[in-house]
Amino acid sequence: MARPSAPPGSQASLREANRQRIVDALTTHGSLAQIELVDITGLSAATVSNIVRELSAAGVISTTFGSRSGRRAVQVSLTRQDGLVAALHFSSRSLTIVLADSALTTVAEKHVPLAADHRYDRELDRAALLVGDMLDGVGAELGELLAVTLSVPVPVDPETGRLAVPGLMPGWDAVDLVASLRARLDAPVVVEHGATLGALAESRGGAAVGARVAMYVAAGYSIGSGIVLDGVPFRGPRGRAGQIGHVTLDENGAICRCGNRGCLETVAGGRALLDLFSGIPGITRLSDLIADAEAGGAGARRAIADAGKHLGVAVASAANLLDPDVVVIGGELARTGETLLASVRHAVERAALDGARDLQIVGSGVAGDPEITGALLAALQVSDSSAAGRALSAG
Ligand SMILES: [Zn+2]
Repeated sequence: MARPSAPPGSQASLREANRQRIVDALTTHGSLAQIELVDITGLSAATVSNIVRELSAAGVISTTFGSRSGRRAVQVSLTRQDGLVAALHFSSRSLTIVLADSALTTVAEKHVPLAADHRYDRELDRAALLVGDMLDGVGAELGELLAVTLSVPVPVDPETGRLAVPGLMPGWDAVDLVASLRARLDAPVVVEHGATLGALAESRGGAAVGARVAMYVAAGYSIGSGIVLDGVPFRGPRGRAGQIGHVTLDENGAICRCGNRGCLETVAGGRALLDLFSGIPGITRLSDLIADAEAGGAGARRAIADAGKHLGVAVASAANLLDPDVVVIGGELARTGETLLASVRHAVERAALDGARDLQIVGSGVAGDPEITGALLAALQVSDSSAAGRALSAG
């Protein structure tokens, strides 16, 4: 997926970087006046004008003329084709919303932190309002929304689209998520476990392309996994497959949010890791811990390596049951790269049959967040099939 890029420091690479700044600004803000692009990117008016002309000729952006404070102004937005799909990606502590066109090019993106005690039902209302604002921002109508994927950090019943395990997301258990989001956004809705979406993205265009049995582990505040068998997501009839975060590591361990004791999440989940740092200033969120590990903080690196060891024990059990070709480790913790991965591999070698000799344990191969890419892919898939359904019923 990587484009050939110019050598760093060259004129061409500077031009490329400047172009990217303009595309990023339009992705974040939606439609902008050319003069606003100058303010936001910090580039000169002449540079912005040149790049806008180039990108417009290449079909990447489109320009319209409007007026601004009584003066003629050029309005710039990213070009989109054939409607838009949306991903609403809930993780335990943040909501990311992405709008993309049918080529899966992101046209708008928004990131909202969530409080530790947030209620998901209220957040769903807010998410629907934000999607409306973002469509406005890129000059699109609600009718252009082809489909929406709601990605959640807990298992989903594939039959009903409701959460498969009660108690994991306060406020959401009794909700018909498909109907309630559809009523707000008037588009087909897919509800899916984020880890399943990650597995889908990795198997379509990431680190698990060609794998017969692929597993994607999302390790963050919560820990879950998605499984793809011969290219098809395997959720189990009730959606409870892949719940690696709730594999028992210590029968006498701490009580888990699922009600069991000593689950993997109670020793390697983000909350458990943060508990190790209680009383240490500066580390209150998982992102603080990861930043500290990346800056070489010994305690943070130790905590993440230990989490990798526990994760590896659970992955070894999964490997003994499923015999995967590849296990992709994603989620916030995977940002620490080999600090986590090396320790997962070491534990798997010790605990899996035959050391799981042919098993690859790797980081994500998807550009961007694999769970969001998977959500956009799933939305596109459902919009294709609903379009095919409309064509069939019209014929
Ligand atoms: Zn549990």
